[in-house]
Amino acid sequence: MEKKNIDWANLGFGYMPTDKRFVANYKDGKWDEGVLVSDAAVVISECAGVLQYSQSCFEGMKAYTTEDGHIVTFRPDLNGERMEDSCRRLEMPVFPKEKFVEAIAKTIEANAAWVPPYGSGATFYVRPYMFATGPVIGVKPADEYQFRVFGTPVGPYFKGGVKPLTLRVCDFDRAAPHGTGHIKAGLNYAMSLHAIVTAHAEGFDENMYLDAATRTKVEETGGANFLFVTKDNKVVTPKSSTILPSITRRSLLTVAKDYLGLEVEERTVYFDEVKDFAECGLCGTAAVISPVGKIVDHGKEICFPSGMTEMGPVITKLRDTLTGIQMGSIKAPDGWIKVIK
Ligand SMILES: *Cc1c(COP(=O)(O)O)cnc(C)c1O
Repeated sequence: MEKKNIDWANLGFGYMPTDKRFVANYKDGKWDEGVLVSDAAVVISECAGVLQYSQSCFEGMKAYTTEDGHIVTFRPDLNGERMEDSCRRLEMPVFPKEKFVEAIAKTIEANAAWVPPYGSGATFYVRPYMFATGPVIGVKPADEYQFRVFGTPVGPYFKGGVKPLTLRVCDFDRAAPHGTGHIKAGLNYAMSLHAIVTAHAEGFDENMYLDAATRTKVEETGGANFLFVTKDNKVVTPKSSTILPSITRRSLLTVAKDYLGLEVEERTVYFDEVKDFAECGLCGTAAVISPVGKIVDHGKEICFPSGMTEMGPVITKLRDTLTGIQMGSIKAPDGWIKVIK
C-alpha cells in the first residue's frame, strides 16, 4: 500500500479529511449495519437534538504503525465501553462495544494510506462520536441518532522537545457533583472553553480543576487526568466520581506496577498535598503523558523539583514504557494491542 505524500514530521494536531468514514444510523429503535462513505459532510434536521440540547458524546484514540509494519490500536474495547457509559448517561442508544471496535477497525483499514509510518513521530487519530439527529423541541431525548468514525493523521505532540507545562488553579468548575464529569460528553468541553481561553490569555497552558463542592481536592484538567509521583517514587492519581476515567492513566498505573515495580495509589488527593510531590504529569491519548513544571494558585507558585526544562525521571520511564508497548517494541499485556492489518 502506497502511503500518502505527507510531511509526517511537520504535521500539527489538526483535522485533515481522509478517504473514508464510518456512518451508522439509529431509527425505529435499532441501529442499521453502518457503511463506509466518502462524503465528509453531515446533513441533519435544523431541529436535530444535538443542535438544540447538545445530545452528543465522543471518543478519542490512536492507530500506530509498529516497527514490523503492522497497523494497531490500543485497547479500543475500553473506548467502546466508555462510549456505552456516555450514551446511557445522556439517554442515547448504546452502540454496542463489539460493533464499535469493528467500526474503528474498518475506518482505520480503509484509511491505511493515511496512517503515519513507524518512526515518523506522527500517529493516526481516530474520532468515534454520536449525536442526536432526530428533531426535538420539547425537552426530551431524540428518537434518531448517528454514530460516525473518522480518522486524521496528527503530528508528534512534543515537537522540538518536551516542554513542561504551567497550570493555573481554575476558578471555574469542570464538573458538578453527580453531573457528567465521568463521561465523554461534548457539553463538558463546551463549558470548559471559556476557562481555557482565559487561561491561555493569562499565559497558562492548562487549568487544574478542583472538586466543585469543596474546592479542596484535585480533579483533572479540561482533557487529561493527573498523575503525581511522591518523593519516594510512589505513583498517585486522584480518585473521584467526577473525573473522566482516562484509558491512558489506567494503563500507566498498570505499567508503573507491573513493568516498573512501583507502588501505585488511586485515592483522594488534596490540593494542599500537591506541593509535596516530586513530579506531576497530565495523561491522555493525545500526549500520552505531559510533564507539569509549575502550578499557580492565585499568585502562589508550586514548582516541581523536575523543573521547567525536562520531564522527571519516573514520568519519563512511564512514558517510554507505554509508548514502547503501543509501538510494539515492548511486549504488551494480553489484550492491549489490536492488530488492524
Ligand atoms: C478523553 C479525556 C481524558 C483522557 O482520556 P484517554 O482515554 O486517556 O484519552 C481525560 N480527561 C477528559 C476530561 C477527557 O475527556
